[in-house]
Amino acid sequence: MADKIEHLELLARQLEPSPEQRNRWNAAARAYADAFLNQIETLNAFDQPPEDGSLSLPFGEEGKPMERLLAEIGAKVDRAGINPASGGHLGYVPGGGVFPAALGDYLAAVTNRYSGIFFANPGAVRMENDLIRWMCRLAGYPKGALGNLASGGSIANLIAITTARDFKGIKATRVEKAVVYLTHQVHHCVQKALRIAGLGEAVIRYIPIDERFRMDIPTLKEQLEKDTAAGLEPFLVAGSAGTTDTGAIDPLNEIASLAEQYGLWFHVDAAYGGFFLLVEDLKDKFRGIERSDSVAIDPHKGLFLPYGLGAVLIKNVKALYSTHYYKANYMQDAHQDWEEASPADLSPELTKHFRGLRMWLPLQLFGLQPFRAALEEKTLLCRYFYQKVQEEGFEVGPEPDLSIMIFRYKTRPEISTEFNEALVEYVRKDGRIFLSSTTIDGEYWIRLAVLSFRTHKKQIDLCLGLLREGVRKLKTAHAQLKNR
Ligand SMILES: *Cc1c(COP(=O)(O)O)cnc(C)c1O
Repeated sequence: MADKIEHLELLARQLEPSPEQRNRWNAAARAYADAFLNQIETLNAFDQPPEDGSLSLPFGEEGKPMERLLAEIGAKVDRAGINPASGGHLGYVPGGGVFPAALGDYLAAVTNRYSGIFFANPGAVRMENDLIRWMCRLAGYPKGALGNLASGGSIANLIAITTARDFKGIKATRVEKAVVYLTHQVHHCVQKALRIAGLGEAVIRYIPIDERFRMDIPTLKEQLEKDTAAGLEPFLVAGSAGTTDTGAIDPLNEIASLAEQYGLWFHVDAAYGGFFLLVEDLKDKFRGIERSDSVAIDPHKGLFLPYGLGAVLIKNVKALYSTHYYKANYMQDAHQDWEEASPADLSPELTKHFRGLRMWLPLQLFGLQPFRAALEEKTLLCRYFYQKVQEEGFEVGPEPDLSIMIFRYKTRPEISTEFNEALVEYVRKDGRIFLSSTTIDGEYWIRLAVLSFRTHKKQIDLCLGLLREGVRKLKTAHAQLKNR
C-alpha cells in the first residue's frame, strides 16, 4: 500500500505547480488578459457566432499547454455573441468588468478563504457584511439592517421574496388567498422567484402603468381595497427602481404609504438602478426606498463589476435569518456567537465564493468618486441620445429617469415594427454597437441602455451615426422594392 500511496502522490502532486510553472501560466494568462484589454476599444460589441463554435478539445488524461487552451478560449468564447466588456454594448443591461475586481477574484481563489461562516473567517465575513451595511446606508436603511451578497439580482430577489413569504406567514394553505402586487414592467425574475418560492398559485395583481411606465397608484389603492373587502390577504408589493425596459422608477414613496396602510411587505427591485443613489442629483427620484422592507441591488450592473454579484438588503435581519438558517449537527462548532451574522444563515448557500473581495478591492482602490462620476455620465449620455435621436427623425418614449430609454424610427405604422427590427439587425451586423429591443403594450421599441463604464460620448455618437446610416439604407431598399 505504501508503494501505491507514493506512486499516487507523485501523480497527485501535479496539482501543485512549481513556482516556475506558475510563472509561465501566470504570464500566459496575463498576456491574454492584457491583449484583450489593450484592444478593447477596437473589439466588436457583437460578433456573429462562428460556423462551428463547438470547443474542440476533449478532456484527456494528459494536460495540455496553456497557450493552446487560451487560443481555444480566444477563438470560441471571446469572439462570439455579445461582448459585455465592450463600451459599445448598449443592449439589455450592459456588463461591467472593472479590472481590480478580477484581481479580487484571483486572490479570493488563490487563498480560498471561507466566507460562509463567521467562525471560519471572521475577516472575510466582516468584509462582506461591511459592504452590505454600506449599501444599506446608501438605501437609507437604519443600523441593524443587513442582507446577502448573492450571485446576481435574480437570487437576490428570490431571497427577498422567500423572506417576505415567511415573515407574512404565507403557508401552503393560505397561498391561494395571498395577493401580490406587481406591474408588467417588473423584471421576470420576480415572477420566477414567486413560482420557485411556492407562490405560483397566489393571486397576482398586475397594476396598470401610467404614461411613464410606472405603477399607477390610484389603481393600486383601489385594488387593495377590493381585495381586502373580498377576504383575500394582500401581503407583498414589488416596485422597481429602474425597470429593465425603460429605466422607470415606480412612485416608491406612495407605494410605501400604501404598504404601511395595508400591512404589505414592500420589496424594491433596484438591481439595475440602485447604484444611481450614489449620484446626489438623482437621490430624490428614489424617495421612499428607505421605507421599503427589502431591496435587490446589483453591483455587477451599477458598480461595473464583472458578472457574479447581486445583493439583497433586508431591514429586518431576524426575518431573513428565520427563513434561511439551519442548524446541522456537524456544524455545531460554527454557531457560537452573533458578533457578525454569517452569510450561510442569511441565504440558501453554505459554501460560497468569497465575493466580497471583488467588490471591496475596486471600491477601495478607486475610491467612490469615479463611480459617482461614471454613473452621472451615463445618465447624461442617455439624455444626450434622447435629444439627438429625435433630431434624426426618431420618436422616443418618456424622458429617461436614469440611463435606459426607448425609441423607434417614425414611419408608417403598418411597417414600423418590421422597419425598426431591420434597423436593429443592421446595427447588429455592423457589430461595433449592440442594441436590443422590447415590446411594451404590444408595441415594438428599440432600447438604449447605457451602463458600461466603457461607454462614453464616442460610442453614443457612433450609435447615432449607425442609426442614421441604417435608416438611409433601409429607405433606399424600400424605395427600390416599391419601384420594382
Ligand atoms: C438584471 C435585472 C434583474 C436580474 O438580475 P440578474 O443579476 O441578471 O440575475 C432583476 N431586476 C432588474 C430590474 C434587472 O435589471
